[in-house]
Amino acid sequence: MSFERKKVVVLGAGYAGLQTVTKLQKLVSAQDCDITLINKNEYHYESTWLHEASAGTRSYEDCLYPIKNVLNNEKVKFVVAEVTKIDRDAKIVETSNGSFNFDILVVALGFESETFGISGMKEHAFQIENINTARRIANHIEERFAHYANASEKDEKDLAILVGGAGFTGVELLGELVEKIPALCKQYGIDQSKVKITCVEAAPKMLPMFSEDLVKYVVSYLEKRGVEFKIATPIVAANENGFVVKVNEQEEQLYANTVIWAAGVRGSKLMEESFEGVRRGRIVNREDLRIDGYDDIFVIGDCSAVMVGEGENKRPLPTTAQIAMQQGEFTAKAIKQLLAGEKLSKFEYVDRGTVCSLGSHDGVGVVFGKEITGKKAAFMKKLIDTRAIFKIGGAGIAYKKGKF
Ligand code: NAD
Repeated sequence: MSFERKKVVVLGAGYAGLQTVTKLQKLVSAQDCDITLINKNEYHYESTWLHEASAGTRSYEDCLYPIKNVLNNEKVKFVVAEVTKIDRDAKIVETSNGSFNFDILVVALGFESETFGISGMKEHAFQIENINTARRIANHIEERFAHYANASEKDEKDLAILVGGAGFTGVELLGELVEKIPALCKQYGIDQSKVKITCVEAAPKMLPMFSEDLVKYVVSYLEKRGVEFKIATPIVAANENGFVVKVNEQEEQLYANTVIWAAGVRGSKLMEESFEGVRRGRIVNREDLRIDGYDDIFVIGDCSAVMVGEGENKRPLPTTAQIAMQQGEFTAKAIKQLLAGEKLSKFEYVDRGTVCSLGSHDGVGVVFGKEITGKKAAFMKKLIDTRAIFKIGGAGIAYKKGKF
C-alpha cells in the first residue's frame, strides 16, 4: 500500500461511478486513500428503468435511492455538486460546490440525449435523459389524456404519442406504453381505439443486434397492442405539431401532442471540454481503462469507448449498464493496484447477454448465447435489474427496490 494518502476523486454516481466507489470502499482502508464522490444529485437512479418512469408504469421514487445509504462514511466523502470543469493537467476538478484536487480521477459522468442538431428537437420533443425528464413525460401523457377526457372540443392529438427511434430505448418505452395505455383509458373513460402510438425509425432494420426472429417477435407484440411502425423513415425536424419525416424524398408532418425523442445518446458534454480526441462525448480507453497520456485518469461508463475487434471490425462496446458496472469493479481493483504501485491488468468485458423488455411480462433477448422470448425474457430482465441494484446497493436496497 502507498505511504502517502492519495486523493481519489470519482465524478458521477451512475452505474459506473457508484460501482467503483462501493467496491473500492471494500478494498481499501481509510488510511490508504481519501475517496471523494461528486454527483449532481443526492440520489442514484436506475437509468435502465427510465422507460418505465417515462411511461408511468413505475413511479419515479421506485427508480432511485439516496447515495449516502450505500456509502461507508468513514471512507468516502460524498459531495452533491455539478462538475463544471476538469483541469486534467493541474489535477483539479471544479464544481458548483468548490474545487477538488485529485491524484487519481475517475470520470463517470454518464450520458445525455443527442439530437444530432435536428431542428426543433430540443424544444419540441421530450428527451429520456434522467429521472426528472422521465417523470415529466409520464406526467405529460396523463395530463393530455385528462385534458382529452374533460375537453368539450376533443383534440385527437392529445391521444397521439410519437416515439422517435426504435433502438433499445424506443422499443422498451413502447413496451411500457402499451401496458400503461389501457389503464389510463379506463381511468379517464377513453375509448382505447382512439389512442395512436407511432414509432418512427430511420434505419431499414430495427434492433440490428437481434436476429430477424426476435425483431419479428417485437414488432408483432407491439403492433398487436396498437403501435404503428414507420421504418426507414428519418425524422428531419420537430415542431409544435409533432415530427416532420422524410418519405420518398418528400417531407411529411406527423401529428401528436406527446413527442418523445429516443433516437440517440452521447457521453457528457464535459468530455469534449476536458479532453482531446472525444467523439460524441466518448473517449477511447487504454486497455486498463485509463486514457492516453494520463496514468491517473480513468474514464468509464457512457463517456468511455472500449474498442474491440480488429481492422475494419474494430468498434467501441455499446454503452450499457452491464459494461459500466464491470468497468466500475475493474476500476476499483485498478485503483488499489495503482496505490500499491502494481501493474494494472487489462479490462475484459464478459458479455452475459442482453434482454429488451416489452412491458413487465414479456420481452426478447440473448442470454449466454441463447435466444429467449416471452415470460422467460421478462423473468431474466427482472433478474438482471435486481442483480444490478444488489451489486451496487447490497441486499437492503435490492429488497426494497428490486423487482421480485
Ligand atoms: P440507439 O442509438 O441504440 O438507437 C437509436 C435508434 O434511433 C437507432 O435505431 C437509429 O437508427 C434511430 N434514429 C437515429 N436518428 C434518427 C432519426 N433522425 N429519425 C429516426 N430514427 C433515428 O439509442 P438507444 O436505444 O437510446 O440506446 C443507447 C445505448 O443504450 C445502446 O448502446 C443500447 O444498447 C443501450 N441500451 C440498452 C438497453 C438494454 O440492454 N436493455 C436498454 C436501453 C439502452
